[in-house]
Amino acid sequence: DVAVSEDVTFAGLLLSEPVLLGLRRAGFERPSPIQLRAIPLGRCAVDLIVQAKSGTGKTCVLAVLALEALVAAPPSGRCRALVLAPTREVAVQVAQVITAIGVEVPGLAVQTLIGGLPLAQDVANLRRCNVAVGTPGRIRQLVDCEALNTDSVRLFVMDEADKLMEDAFVDDINFIYSTLPASKQMIALSATYPDTLASLLARYMRSPTFVRLGKSSPALLGIRQYVMTVPCEPLVTKQLKVKLEALVNILSTVSFTQCLVFSNHQTRAETLCSQLSSRGWPSAHLSSSLSQERRLEALSQLTSLRCRVLVTTDLGARGVDSEHADLVVQLDVPWDGATYLHRVGRAGRYGSLGAAVALVSLGEEEQRLTTVIAAAGVSPLRLPQSLPDDIK
Ligand code: ADP
Ligand code: MG
Repeated sequence: DVAVSEDVTFAGLLLSEPVLLGLRRAGFERPSPIQLRAIPLGRCAVDLIVQAKSGTGKTCVLAVLALEALVAAPPSGRCRALVLAPTREVAVQVAQVITAIGVEVPGLAVQTLIGGLPLAQDVANLRRCNVAVGTPGRIRQLVDCEALNTDSVRLFVMDEADKLMEDAFVDDINFIYSTLPASKQMIALSATYPDTLASLLARYMRSPTFVRLGKSSPALLGIRQYVMTVPCEPLVTKQLKVKLEALVNILSTVSFTQCLVFSNHQTRAETLCSQLSSRGWPSAHLSSSLSQERRLEALSQLTSLRCRVLVTTDLGARGVDSEHADLVVQLDVPWDGATYLHRVGRAGRYGSLGAAVALVSLGEEEQRLTTVIAAAGVSPLRLPQSLPDDIK
């Protein structure tokens, strides 16, 4: 899905001069298949549901469309594009991509509006803002206190829309939506293909057009998937120790640039991070138990390659993009098939080669994994205890 066509360039998509220049400066030379299909449709002002696997370049789709909405409108300090993301980290990354591609767009003012940082700062920043990117709770707060005026929004985007459609966000999204002008365009992007997504989005969208890629092959391109079993221990602490040994073994045997380790529990992620560090694998930890400053610091350690291992909960499973991540280890069985695919997807950004290993204890946990991978429509290979070093 990331194979690019040789003869198509972004210039062929009839984009404005500043956006074309920005794409080039950000290192994007040719559109990926999803960009090739979704950008022209998005430019026709129809509502869109864009579904394509992780790492296929959906962020660039929304960035280009947000920037074009801005270029098309008379310059002003009004918010023209509003982007919602389910986690603070995704919001930060989306804002970075819009800023990078928008370097040549005159007057661009992107603001990231996320919880956990002082509200007063956001209120001050909003005096200059024409593209707002944030999490539903904080955006609602800012609209509610009239710091963010949504009267002039032309483009409303939901990134990771399947996640945003979960119950926890409904009230905030309904509130925000009710303040938007009727004439706006709306775009929803998702890396999974739940059958319910369109009906959930129907409340907000006007007969949306679908742009889908790769639905028929849910297996993630370029990422080899494995299962490794370890003995089942009755004591939780003992079980964790056995898995830690297996993890250290994987890290020392398999060649990788950066590894993301997933746990279902915040405290376990934290413990594991310090244990790994004391075993000679300096690691960072990202979960919602941290302050926002520390979450952003963990993310920047990852993207700047200052750490090779990031231990995280499912907070890191979606959207978090580190171009160097090429190994994923799941320390606990994820709750469902979609989460499994999101986690695995972190190992193969934009067509690079990666590997994902699910570590399970024999018996009940192994059974649960069987259900989850069946739901995900994938069939990972079983790894022997003595690992080959090149499993990618
Ligand atoms: P998605 O949102 O679909 O999971 P992202 O938008 O985060 O994927 O993109 C994944 C990676 O691919 C990013 O590192 C991004 O910089 C890179 N990328 C996206 N589009 C292009 C392109 N046209 N050319 C080169 N790299 C790209
Ligand atoms: Mg994305």
